[in-house]
Amino acid sequence: MPSAAQRPRITVFSLGGTISMEGPAGSGVVPKLDANDLLAGIPQLAAVAQVTGESVSKAASVELGFADVATLAERIAAAVAGGADGVVVTQGTDTLEETAYLLDLLLDLDEPVVVTGAMRDPTKPGADGPANLAAAIRVAASPAARGLGVVAVMNDEVHAARFVAKRHTHKTSAFGSGTIGPLGWVIEDRVRIALRPAQRTPTIAWKGPPPRVILLPMVFGGDAQALRDLTREPVAGMVVEAVGGGHVPSAMVEPLAQLAATAPVVLASRTGGGETLDKTYGYAGGEIDLLGRGLIGAGLLDARKARLLLSLLLGAGATREEISAAFARASA
Ligand code: ASP
Repeated sequence: MPSAAQRPRITVFSLGGTISMEGPAGSGVVPKLDANDLLAGIPQLAAVAQVTGESVSKAASVELGFADVATLAERIAAAVAGGADGVVVTQGTDTLEETAYLLDLLLDLDEPVVVTGAMRDPTKPGADGPANLAAAIRVAASPAARGLGVVAVMNDEVHAARFVAKRHTHKTSAFGSGTIGPLGWVIEDRVRIALRPAQRTPTIAWKGPPPRVILLPMVFGGDAQALRDLTREPVAGMVVEAVGGGHVPSAMVEPLAQLAATAPVVLASRTGGGETLDKTYGYAGGEIDLLGRGLIGAGLLDARKARLLLSLLLGAGATREEISAAFARASA
């Protein structure tokens, strides 16, 4: 066993979420525990790594915003510059997929950065927080996880930030990567990375809170009024969460094309897996029609991840060509 001084140095940042929640029976749980409280529940991990806890916030994850994650990214970069071999972030699972991808876009580190949380709060039998935190620390301490970009570790699985999504309201197996599956897993005391992404997520400089990017879901029968309502004021950009491989009702084509003439409009799919098409369907409102009218395919990114990428690009002052190129790269 490595001596204490040889063990990897891991910094754990706590943001709140179910993993940190407690409360009297019957009145609901709220964030209470900080990073050191969480670490006190897994003393065995001291044999794996030298772990330091830093409490960032005690919030439900729906309260997090772009600026919070940008500040966290700075703290993570500072921890690594100060000698950390890996970093773990604990937060609520409701927006974990967004935080993980934003960190992936903002950070350019070889050191593992792992986001985790819990589906069952600490007052519940079988609470999964300690197991998830222990697995996340093992991944953050593992040389095999270097160079992967930011990952999420939940339920002993390792997921790439670009693909991970919460797909269930309460199961401990709520997280998945619909398109590619997990990159690896934790078993006994081992971290197994079975797949490595073909390319890293591009890094985008943070230039302050980005302008507003709207996400518009397509619904059965179409809702052209929603599009008119949302674009009454000028918008910096929009992500259309289209049906299937990237399709909208024909009545929405013209207004979307008009918007795309003045602001980037990204075409994503609501299916939760696969990538957007670009040369299959020729009907009005099909992907060939929409891409021909200036919409930009989201490729492998779902609508929520596409909104984050477009927001950061606009915030960094990217041109239309740079935005198209970034989405093409995100799907390559
Ligand atoms: N239900 C949430 C969680 O799993 C609460 C939150 O996202 O903060 O942590």
